[in-house]
Amino acid sequence: MTQCPECDARLERKDRIEGELFTCPECGVELEVNGTDPFAVSYAPKEQEDWGE
Ligand SMILES: [Zn+2]
Repeated sequence: MTQCPECDARLERKDRIEGELFTCPECGVELEVNGTDPFAVSYAPKEQEDWGE
């Protein structure tokens, strides 16, 4: 169990793996799994966004 760095929502590991990207169910921020034992997350890198217009 850890907390969202954006909104402090409690996040459960479930079946997530290290490096997995997911979205906070509370605030919608993109997060990346930093580790699974203990479970830790950080903001996801933005570089996968498609900014082309
Ligand atoms: Zn959040």
